[in-house]
Amino acid sequence: MNLPPLRVFSFIASLSISAFATLSAQTVKNPPPPQPVPMPPPIAAPVDQPYAGPVQLEVDLTNVTDRVAHVREQIPVQRNARELVLLYPQWIPGTHSPNGPISRIAGIVVAVDGTRVQWIRDQINVYAFHVPLGAGARTVSLQFDYLSPIKPAEGRIEWSDAIVDLAWNAVVMYPAGFFSRGIPFDVTLKLPQGWKYATALETANTEGSTVKFKRTTLNTLVDSPLYGGIHFKRVDLSPSPTNIVRLNVFADGEKDLEISADALEKHKNLVIEADKLYQSHHYDHYDFLLLLSSTVGGIGLEHHQSSENGSRPNYFTEWDRGNLRSDLLAHEYTHSWNGKFRRPADLWTPNFNVPMRNDLLWVYEGMTQYWGSVLSARSGIRTAEQGRYTFARIAAGFEISPGRNWRPLIDTTNQPTVSQRRPVSWVSWQLPENYYAEGALIWLDADTKIRELTNDRKSLDDFAAEFLSPYNGSFVTYTYDLQDIVKILNTIAPYDWMQFFQERVYGLHPAVPMDGITRGGYRLVYTDKIPSWLTRMESAPGGGADFSTSLGFSFGGGRGEAPATTPSNELGNVWWNSPAFVAGITPDMQIVSVNGKAYTAEVLRSAITEAERTKQPIELQFRRGDVFKSFSVPYYGGLRIPSLERVEGAPNRLDAILAPSKRPLPAM
Ligand SMILES: [Zn+2]
Repeated sequence: MNLPPLRVFSFIASLSISAFATLSAQTVKNPPPPQPVPMPPPIAAPVDQPYAGPVQLEVDLTNVTDRVAHVREQIPVQRNARELVLLYPQWIPGTHSPNGPISRIAGIVVAVDGTRVQWIRDQINVYAFHVPLGAGARTVSLQFDYLSPIKPAEGRIEWSDAIVDLAWNAVVMYPAGFFSRGIPFDVTLKLPQGWKYATALETANTEGSTVKFKRTTLNTLVDSPLYGGIHFKRVDLSPSPTNIVRLNVFADGEKDLEISADALEKHKNLVIEADKLYQSHHYDHYDFLLLLSSTVGGIGLEHHQSSENGSRPNYFTEWDRGNLRSDLLAHEYTHSWNGKFRRPADLWTPNFNVPMRNDLLWVYEGMTQYWGSVLSARSGIRTAEQGRYTFARIAAGFEISPGRNWRPLIDTTNQPTVSQRRPVSWVSWQLPENYYAEGALIWLDADTKIRELTNDRKSLDDFAAEFLSPYNGSFVTYTYDLQDIVKILNTIAPYDWMQFFQERVYGLHPAVPMDGITRGGYRLVYTDKIPSWLTRMESAPGGGADFSTSLGFSFGGGRGEAPATTPSNELGNVWWNSPAFVAGITPDMQIVSVNGKAYTAEVLRSAITEAERTKQPIELQFRRGDVFKSFSVPYYGGLRIPSLERVEGAPNRLDAILAPSKRPLPAM
């Protein structure tokens, strides 16, 4: 907002005159002006030394009906310590955000060598709890409850009566002052009777519904979530006896666990194509944790030896229907290499309460978004046409995003800290987490640039192998910075890569980065023909429908890595300055009718086509809360469905990128 300077001046002038008038009327004696109270000492920074001994952690999940986990810990204390500071994890890897669920814990009770003592929460750092210790104290006992959300307004639903998605960071406190890799943990888990479980953790033994895991470190524990449930199927995806990959599926019901031969083959292909691309793996064994539920919320969260994935109940049973987020598993699996093994040096932190710096998320997430799209096409999970559509949709979405005029891509990497992964109202104006989608376009740009520079002898596949394959078999994080990326790119294809990223990532870049598509042999066009596979996807639960490039809104949606679960008549986004925006339509509305007919995506498409011909406004009725609102939208531009059109004669690099790899499977 701008005020004319003159008016600002007169406003200030009138303020000071009236202040002066008050002072002259009566003589006020002021107290000494306030001064800040010194801050308490900060919580001890972590050091790279082994902790005094293993922490015993017991988690009781038997009260799943109330969505409560009862937690008990026995924590040995350092000799001669006068205080133990317990930390509840705040910066959760993969969320890139200080959003550890501290508001969900209750019933915190602490005892020192059997005698209850009162803990004191740190005034500044609410994730830290001070426990006073007497001379000779040996063990601190801790208990608390983790209260998982019951209503969606409290946060993502993580548990149902049939499925539990247990993030260990939610059910643990740990001693401050040490690296998370230096604190050993012995973990015991009590599950509801008869439940099955899957996790990358190694089981030591099970007794009834109680599981004891082999000793691990806090670092690996938090990196190895557990899915438990009633309806469970495990499928082997291992491409070789030395590369163990399992798909662990938990569903609302037994019927959702039927996996067709076609779906199974394509998931196996995903592992094979990733192996060919990354020429290595960085796990002892890898566990896809996949929940298929209409109750438990969707998720996509990477870990070194596993990933949390959530999709719709009929993911397998209506496999041929497809899914706009069908790159989810490819994306999360890629993170085992890009994100967990290779991690930006300033994003890696020694424990879960040291702030992360996110400036290289356009590599961590952006390149993963790219490889996730590429691998889902190479494996056949998506067709080549669907793969191309993904890039068309991203580019078209940016063409109508005026946020590009104010926000450089690099600033969007601050968004997980700014909004803590909460949705925003005006996506195209705020550009909340652009480092994903725009990152993918930039890496397509880099891939095709390498191909052009080397007469198609080299590609970003070569970069991936160079960048991700060192220390094969190790899952100790290997950090990098921007210089390392540029250096490796220069060994593949010498070019001014620093300038390349400077322009596209760090500077303001209002133009959509379209070069990858052009160099790929395609151009972005808009058609009035919707592919039949796209209409099939729309009719799936949470499938949504996209009118962003015509009227300027979309239904369903979802954001980040989690698949959409929004009802299909609820708006996901309204594009800033679009015809819908100008008419007064807002993203909190539900559509009711189109030209007097009940809404379906097909009805709306017909109305758009008709308006293009008749030049009569489209009459839309929406519901906003209890109020019904009618809008007359004078939009005559047609359907404008984004598509990539082949440029005849140009090298077809994009299809080469999306085709199965010709490399042999590496021997590992
Ligand atoms: Zn990701």
